[in-house]
Order: sequence, then C-alpha cells, then structure tokens
Amino acid sequence: MICGYCQREIADNSNFCYFCGARQQGAQPARSVRRLMRSATDKKLAGICGGLGEYFEMDSTLVRLIWVLVVVFTGIFPGVIVYLLAWLIMPEAPQDVHASQPAPQPNP
Ligand SMILES: [Zn+2]
Repeated sequence: MICGYCQREIADNSNFCYFCGARQQGAQPARSVRRLMRSATDKKLAGICGGLGEYFEMDSTLVRLIWVLVVVFTGIFPGVIVYLLAWLIMPEAPQDVHASQPAPQPNP
C-alpha cells in the first residue's frame, strides 16, 4: 500500500507509515463507533444519564448523582437547560430486543 501523506510504499495493513509516521486510513478493521445516545433501557427521565453511563462505562446511578450535584452547584437552571438540550440533541438508542417484553399474542 501507499502512504496517503508521503506517497511512499509501505507494507500492507500497516497502521502507521514508516517514513512520516502518519496514521493510515483503512488499516484498522472496521469497528462500530461508540455513539453517545440516550439509553432506552436505563432511564429515569429521558435516559441521558443512562446513556452517559453506557458511553463512559460508568454506573448510571453515579452519573445521576454527579449530574444532580452539578445542577445544584450551578444554580439549577444551567444543569436543567443542558439536560433539556441533551434530550433534544442525543438520539435515543434502539430498544434492546432482549430487554423488551414480547408483545402478547392474541388468543384465537
Ligand atoms: Zn508516509
């Protein structure tokens, strides 16, 4: 393969160019990008704290506690506004099919 920055020949599947040190595009196998989304399963209001907890791999209860402290210490309104903006901006995660109850089948 050819380095996209210095155009020199380097070994296939190299992560970095030997000559200029540039990171190579497409060398890594495609990974699903972790996205910041509102949790569909771990939610009290809008799932913001649950989503943050999933994103940062933290306990969502701890996130809620930190959020409440931030809201209180910033004088309520900034935290509430940020929460409402996050509600608008963050997409909701798709429902976990394993967590949701199956729809009741109508009896014949
Ligand atoms: Zn290079």
